[in-house]
Amino acid sequence: MTEEKTEIERSLTDDLLPSVERRKEGPYALCECHQRIPCNPCLTSCPTGAVSLDSINDTPEVDFDKCAGCKQCVSACPGLACFVIDETYSTDSALVTIPYEFLPLPEEGETVNGLDRKGNFVKEVTVKNIDSFSDNGKTKVITVIVPQEAVHQIRNIEIREENHG
Ligand code: SF4
Ligand code: SF4
Repeated sequence: MTEEKTEIERSLTDDLLPSVERRKEGPYALCECHQRIPCNPCLTSCPTGAVSLDSINDTPEVDFDKCAGCKQCVSACPGLACFVIDETYSTDSALVTIPYEFLPLPEEGETVNGLDRKGNFVKEVTVKNIDSFSDNGKTKVITVIVPQEAVHQIRNIEIREENHG
């Protein structure tokens, strides 16, 4: 596994991350959306009003004091750009919640490949649970258990063929 962050990963996360104190408090959303496109489901889906956009063409900002880590924005974002991160899961492991639109789905407890933003393999990870929100049946929301050191690297998964042969 490559622990050193790429420039893209650094720029995508460091500007977006909450404070170290907030990261220790529980789950938070990251909307890694840097394209100024007319789009706002992250804002309209959020039940706590945590997401703001100065205009519909702006990039979203998350108020981490309001974010409850509910995962609704992960399901709603058509760009698959929203994730929920929970760095408090255990000393060694964190949770990353990822939008997923492929079939077949993995099962809870299954080992899958954890991929970075470019689709490169990072580490085998374990599926903790799969959510499906009623307003969007297509996008499943999969939470995986990842090593703490890969929590801002892993942003996608792929099933391992030997588990679905
Ligand atoms: S995780 Fe929930 S509370 Fe947090 S920004 Fe997303 S929709 Fe809002
Ligand atoms: S819904 Fe997704 S793509 Fe649209 S503005 Fe929000 S984060 Fe960006």
